[in-house]
Amino acid sequence: MPGAFADGFDSDLERCLTRSQKLSHQIPTVGRLIRDVSIRILEPQLWHRALEMDMATSNILFGTPQLQALTITYGKYDFDASFHSPLLDVIPRLSTVTSITCREADPRNGGPVSDVIFDDCSKHVVNHFLAAMLTHHGRNLRSIRLLGTLKIDRSLFVQLRDNTPNLQTLGIRRSLSLELSSLLREPKLWSCAATLQTLIMIQCSIHSEYIATQLALGTLGSIRNCSLFACGDSTDNQSLQTTATWKGPPLDTFRVDHFLGWEVNLLSIIATRVLIVTRVERRHLIDLMWKPSAFPQVAQLRISNKWRVEELDDLRRAAASRGAEVVTDWDRHEDPSSGEFMLLEYCPCFACRQGIVGL
Ligand SMILES: [Zn+2]
Repeated sequence: MPGAFADGFDSDLERCLTRSQKLSHQIPTVGRLIRDVSIRILEPQLWHRALEMDMATSNILFGTPQLQALTITYGKYDFDASFHSPLLDVIPRLSTVTSITCREADPRNGGPVSDVIFDDCSKHVVNHFLAAMLTHHGRNLRSIRLLGTLKIDRSLFVQLRDNTPNLQTLGIRRSLSLELSSLLREPKLWSCAATLQTLIMIQCSIHSEYIATQLALGTLGSIRNCSLFACGDSTDNQSLQTTATWKGPPLDTFRVDHFLGWEVNLLSIIATRVLIVTRVERRHLIDLMWKPSAFPQVAQLRISNKWRVEELDDLRRAAASRGAEVVTDWDRHEDPSSGEFMLLEYCPCFACRQGIVGL
């Protein structure tokens, strides 16, 4: 690879470090004006550069007293949090930050990378960073988006649930794993129940029954918009039935992508005005829509324009029996993360390969 160093420190990272150091030097002049910062945390194995990057970053964060939005890009295997103490030391000062987004850096050699095992996740620098942010400033946070693949451990989950009383947006991709199942079955009120408006869950290994039940019980409050993409796990118990019924006002929009028929059954206790559905078992959805109890209060069903004419007619009839309309205007660009995570690209799972689900 041209420009690559023996330890993987390539020219892109070199430029990234140079930019950070330049900004760090200009911070006394411009720092007061900065509201939005994106930082890159380098893994300790990247020579001494990781420490240089941390020093530049902490200098930037110390010098931006109006900072509101912080985006952190991290390496997947960065487990030595003690190495990053200059960076972690700045956290108590970040009292103006209201929005935090964590993203994972692309793998440096391009190939597939293995998942970090659950027991190692609590050692990861980003989870240390998040835990400290929630301890010091959980009350200030309006938006948290965890968009990497790093899982969160039980204590971080409890912090997220209990220490974020002003949270409005929570987006989580793959961070909620099977190991948290028992916590996700507890009918415990989230601290953000009075403020949370938007919940996005992407590829989390959470059983549909747990999600549906939590939303129905209102443990996350009266959220307006919920988007679920391909959640669940291959070990899920398919005969699990939900006993909860919907308590609060309906959602404004419920976005559902890539779920099997039995999962959609479980999710159908969720009341919503607009239901946006892709990659479900179409015949199953048609049958379900004949039932007045499925997706209570739904007024509009939005789907892709890929449905066959007969299927579409059948869906329209089923929806009309409930007084709901079907529109085929869904556009993949509406899903803010669809390009980034290839949510709607070719999926190698059995249901997609066999054509059981399709857009
Ligand atoms: Zn698939």
